[in-house]
Amino acid sequence: MISEEEARKKILETVRSLPSRRLSISRALDCFAAEDYFARLPQPAFDNSAMDGYAVIANSCARGKRLRVTAEQPAGRDKQLRISPGEAIRIFTGAPMPQGADAIVMQEDVTRGGDEIVINTDVKGGEFIRRRACDLSEGQRILAKGERLRAATIALLASQGIDDVTVGGEVNAAILSTGDELVKPGEKLDPGQIYESNSALLRALLHRCGAAVNLVEHCRDERGSLSKAIKRGMKNHILIISGGVSVGEHDLVKDALRELGAEVDIWRVAIKPGKPFLFGRMQQSKPSPQSSQRSARSRSREADTKARSKGAVASSGCCFIFGLPGNPVSAFVTFLQFVRPAILKMMGAINLDLPQLPARLAVDLTNQGDRAHYIRGKLEHGKFSPVGRQESHALFGLSQSNAFLRLGLGQSFRADEIVDVQIWD
Ligand code: AMP
Ligand code: MG
Repeated sequence: MISEEEARKKILETVRSLPSRRLSISRALDCFAAEDYFARLPQPAFDNSAMDGYAVIANSCARGKRLRVTAEQPAGRDKQLRISPGEAIRIFTGAPMPQGADAIVMQEDVTRGGDEIVINTDVKGGEFIRRRACDLSEGQRILAKGERLRAATIALLASQGIDDVTVGGEVNAAILSTGDELVKPGEKLDPGQIYESNSALLRALLHRCGAAVNLVEHCRDERGSLSKAIKRGMKNHILIISGGVSVGEHDLVKDALRELGAEVDIWRVAIKPGKPFLFGRMQQSKPSPQSSQRSARSRSREADTKARSKGAVASSGCCFIFGLPGNPVSAFVTFLQFVRPAILKMMGAINLDLPQLPARLAVDLTNQGDRAHYIRGKLEHGKFSPVGRQESHALFGLSQSNAFLRLGLGQSFRADEIVDVQIWD
């Protein structure tokens, strides 16, 4: 058994960033920039009005003063107007400032009569003008390599006239759940059987990371079908196998992988829940025309018809294999601690960690075990409280939680202490 830190280090040393690609900004949400981007334009690009109103010269204005409206400046076309004392120019939000004007009076603060206005307020120089470059200067960095493209980042790129971006590669994933006792949701459950929920969990987590789920399969605990399913799955960049990695007679995954020629780099990590976690890799052969036909057939077997089957199997290279323990909470914890950072690295991200926030702990907690313990709980109004049963099958408690508190070996915290928690929602 190796420590959680060693496992994470080994995984991150092993996986590589995928080649970058060019994408329309409309498809780039949650991708990671593959290069730095700099402002081509200052923001705003020219001095303009922040209000619908009148452009004026501030020191020729006073409360009760009458001004002659000489012209109109709409947004979208610079009429290159000029203003003299005693004059006002009708102006609209976003319209370029007329030359000589140094303030805007809101239309709510004037009384208009024909070609004249009376000012009903005090006017200060600079008021309601958005100055050129006050938000952003030309040449300033707007997006750093490895940073995630969020909605506002995409809007910023669009505002710079940029319509496509170079981002990190897309990770294609296959999910393989194992277990004789498992039944697909929607089907009839016989005594002793349970519904298969890890595929749904892993699919959702993969989508959250921005990975494409190309194949979802379920397989019984039977060596032959397991080997065939692994072979189909390993045509992707990553293969996530749920269950069958523990030490029972029905836990066949490790041996099946070895028999197929995979390197098993990690098996068993000092993490609770999640100890039987496995990480390995398998060299992929260059797909021959025949094997692409086979992979098309296998994709048509996909468990979920909604899955994306755009044929984007990994080109020849390496498939990284993550064997997650079958208990749902163990699968969840090991996905977030080991699989997520690996996927993010492959996608070109810089920050691989879950977001952390300080929180006041609601109860005393001690870890007397020999593994780092991830306590599931709820972070609410700055306070973290453990939720539900802290056992690896307890999916309901997990569903009510939004954060982890990691207790290292021998670590204790007292109620009211400020601790850092990892959040996933
Ligand atoms: P395993 O890791 O295969 O020994 O499974 C450990 C526990 O997790 C057993 O109680 C399984 O029934 C349960 N389990 C395994 N796979 C799944 C799954 N895909 N969905 C729900 N429960 C599972
Ligand atoms: Mg099993």
